[in-house]
Amino acid sequence: MEDCLFCKIVTGEIPSNKVYEDAFVYAFTDIDPKAPVHILLIPKKHLKSILEVKGEDFEYINAMVKAAQKIAEEKGIAADGFRLVFNTGENGGQTVHHLHMHLLGGRYMEWPPG
Ligand code: C5P
Repeated sequence: MEDCLFCKIVTGEIPSNKVYEDAFVYAFTDIDPKAPVHILLIPKKHLKSILEVKGEDFEYINAMVKAAQKIAEEKGIAADGFRLVFNTGENGGQTVHHLHMHLLGGRYMEWPPG
């Protein structure tokens, strides 16, 4: 989609620190990390939020979760635990309107979040 920051990251038009890529998913380190490991996993297809995912597009979510498992192992945070987050809409704190899943780890995560 034109003028979507994360679509431009997928194509390489905007640089990012890539950690993983497959046919469905692109993953990169968050520019403003909130934990020692903070990675964003995004679908290569422009979907605005988790609310827009229907039918066969759930394949992207499967692929994102599988990629998160793999990245967590590779980054050495799987054993101690980590958090996966989909901020959705205004109350959810979503600021970029291309679906993304945060993978956060490397420290204890408080609950509830702010
Ligand atoms: O869930 P939310 O929409 O708030 O998250 C957007 C995330 O995208 C933020 O954590 C922000 O730091 C990250 N970001 C980024 N690179 C950009 C712009 C935003 O990693 N160029």
